[in-house]
Amino acid sequence: MLESIPGKVFVVGVVLLIAFIAYSSQLVLFIPAYGGWNYTSLTMLLPLNLLVGMVFYNYYLSVATDPGKIPVHWEPPSSLVVSKEITSEGITGPRYCKSCNVYKPPRSHHCRYCGRCVLKMDHHCPWINNCVGYDNYGHFMRFIIYADIACSYVIVLLVGRVRAIMDAIRHFQFDAEPDTTQIIFMVLNFVLAFIVVFCVGILTCYQLYCMSKNQTNIESWERGKVEGLVKRGKIPPVNYPFDVGFYRNLCEVLGPNPLTWLWPKKMQGDGLSFPVTTETDPRLPYYWPPRDPDDLRPSIFSSRYKRRQEAQRLLAEDPDAVLEESDGYYDSGSFISDSEAEYSIEDEEEGMRHLVNNRLYDLSGTYFDDTLPTGQHRRNPHGTAMDDSLDSDSDTIPLSTFASRKKIPSSKED
Ligand SMILES: [Zn+2]
Ligand SMILES: [Zn+2]
Repeated sequence: MLESIPGKVFVVGVVLLIAFIAYSSQLVLFIPAYGGWNYTSLTMLLPLNLLVGMVFYNYYLSVATDPGKIPVHWEPPSSLVVSKEITSEGITGPRYCKSCNVYKPPRSHHCRYCGRCVLKMDHHCPWINNCVGYDNYGHFMRFIIYADIACSYVIVLLVGRVRAIMDAIRHFQFDAEPDTTQIIFMVLNFVLAFIVVFCVGILTCYQLYCMSKNQTNIESWERGKVEGLVKRGKIPPVNYPFDVGFYRNLCEVLGPNPLTWLWPKKMQGDGLSFPVTTETDPRLPYYWPPRDPDDLRPSIFSSRYKRRQEAQRLLAEDPDAVLEESDGYYDSGSFISDSEAEYSIEDEEEGMRHLVNNRLYDLSGTYFDDTLPTGQHRRNPHGTAMDDSLDSDSDTIPLSTFASRKKIPSSKED
């Protein structure tokens, strides 16, 4: 239902909410109570107004900053090749967006609300009418942190105000009693500020947790899926490649100097490549996340096939049934959307076709060079013969070792 409301309505609503909590509390409650503008009101309200300024400015940056576009003609390094064996471990590549008809850099995803791919996409947030991606991730984090602090500050001032009124009444100073308007504003401000601190607080804790692990909302969901595949023995153990340690993870989003983490700043870097853990195969980021090998074959055992069968059965029972695709979900006011959740082998095939250009790519992972005579088929796109001897023991080899053993010399180094 929320998806049908135009995004600008959310933005106007957020601005009005911030303005209401920030200024109605000061104009109706605090300034009259402190006896107008004087030393007390300045010392109490100056910090609040600075915080509100930061909330507005970071909100503006979150809304107005493009989350990150894939540069035109961006392509993954041509040394990225996928062998049959790696495909069988759930690793495919390179990632390709059929909607935008472009390669996807590591960590980028297609947002169906924005209608395009977004670099290091975290989630689509209706409250900022924008995706949270590589270039506005820091702005978004600072916005929610300042919103928490500012609303907590308002609550502290409100509690102080209530205590002062109670004290005055206890000392029979009944003229200190607030009038009806003030009581209404006091209750409204308290309720609204509390709701913001509660809801945004939960979001902030979760985002901070994700940031400390260097994972986006989509990636934490993907990590769960990958861990499930490893537990069920479908793919060999594989480490999440982007978690480079707590401190470096925070620096990646908020900047290299902890003293300026809360100061608004432009994102450094291009959002196309990311630091990875030392033992990670450099190609892994371009494939991440590994998938269920069953889903990578047009097989009656694939979960994709089962989902389609289930959808057909439901439609047969009730032709009017509205079947929802499971590629987006709604979570605390944020849309996480990614067409990639419904992986399609056709997309991968398309990607491979682009990468190997005039060569043919077979779903089995075998590359065919259509310029070669029969008998010379079993070759990768760079013309190097593939090694079958690794098939037998591939189950027991960790992915990183495995991938490096699979490294195929490139005839054209980029
Ligand atoms: Zn796309
Ligand atoms: Zn979006």
